[in-house]
Amino acid sequence: MDIGFFAPRHMDIGGGAVVRIAAMLGRLGLSRPLIVTDPVMVKLGLVRRITDPLEAAGIVCAIFSDTVPEPVDTVVEAGVAAARGGAFDCLIGFGGGSPIDTAKAINILLAAEPGARMRDFKVPVAADTAALPLIAVPTTAGTGSEATRFTVITDTQTDEKMLIAGLGALPLAAVVDYELTMSVPPRTTADTGIDAFTHALEAYVSRRANPVSDAYARSAMRLIGANLRKVWQTPQDREAREAMMLGATLAGLAFSNASVALVHGMSRPIGAHFHVPHGMSNAMLLPAVTRYSLNAALPRYAESARLAGFARADDADQLAGARLIEALAAINAELEVPTPQGFGVARADWDALLPKMAEQALASGSPGNNPAVPDAAEIVRIYEEIF
Ligand code: NAD
Repeated sequence: MDIGFFAPRHMDIGGGAVVRIAAMLGRLGLSRPLIVTDPVMVKLGLVRRITDPLEAAGIVCAIFSDTVPEPVDTVVEAGVAAARGGAFDCLIGFGGGSPIDTAKAINILLAAEPGARMRDFKVPVAADTAALPLIAVPTTAGTGSEATRFTVITDTQTDEKMLIAGLGALPLAAVVDYELTMSVPPRTTADTGIDAFTHALEAYVSRRANPVSDAYARSAMRLIGANLRKVWQTPQDREAREAMMLGATLAGLAFSNASVALVHGMSRPIGAHFHVPHGMSNAMLLPAVTRYSLNAALPRYAESARLAGFARADDADQLAGARLIEALAAINAELEVPTPQGFGVARADWDALLPKMAEQALASGSPGNNPAVPDAAEIVRIYEEIF
């Protein structure tokens, strides 16, 4: 078996790790960062958690804080202009997956020919080149973007949520400090936590899984399965927050190398057309897609249920698989994940877009990694089922 495995060169993981950011930059020979973040990080003062230790070390940093949730190409272009406006020697993506993905996309476009657009880099193009070293500092647990070679950017002209993949999107380094997640509001805690579990599960059942990605996926499912409900019920539970943060990063390492599958393929069009947050649209799909896929990889789904604590160690595969689907549905109910209809999507709009959404899901390539590979009609049927 040939295994290629990609990961950031350096990851500093632990409570309070962000205080060591200047030392990390020093080790990497970097001293002029542009911090890419969002307005909430600035408003909440969270950005000070990174600028204070940098300034204390005499590092002058500039901030681009215009990123938006579920990033779009026009904001990336504004970020490229900001990056060109100073003599920066690195980018720091600071925030949830949206600012980190924006920083990655800025970095790819910054290295491109003048006039290049984000859509020039969507899969199946390999976005292997970026301009600057990038350090990712996640504040949600999480997308795992700090450890992946992906960025997801919406094309504002076509409303397509584009998957951009390649080494150009892989951070050089990451600081994974769970203390930054203590202030994440409940809705985002739930959405990002289910997102992380989806990453681990999809990586584990992916047709492109390998023994190295499996090791990360298995550890991630253990951590997230045991702590997802806890961070919802008791947001100030530090141990649970720490476990979720580590689980999310491990899940990122798993899916960056094994790829995601049908849930993600179907989720991106929901996000693009109806502005449903990424983790929430994954959660809407996860029970139904797992039911659809179960028998095509029953031993792996059953093992996932056992690892996550949703099934007993001695449950036979069929029972463990059934318990997995039950648990995923129960988690959605407890964590108040709405259906698309509950989110406010109108039936007529949903129905009208289904063929296009199915086409976009298939074009992303992710459904091809699923244990059971659906055609467009089956994808439409699952969309109908979850409405
Ligand atoms: P997000 O970055 O959009 O953040 C959601 C909200 O939470 C924002 O309002 C943000 O300001 C706020 N927030 C973040 N951290 C906070 C904190 N510590 N305290 C208080 N508020 C906080 O959400 P996300 O789910 O982390 O990221 C979603 C994006 O990540 C999507 O665009 C998705 O496509 C992308 N994604 C990328 C990858 C990848 O590998 N590149 C993987 C999964 C998802």
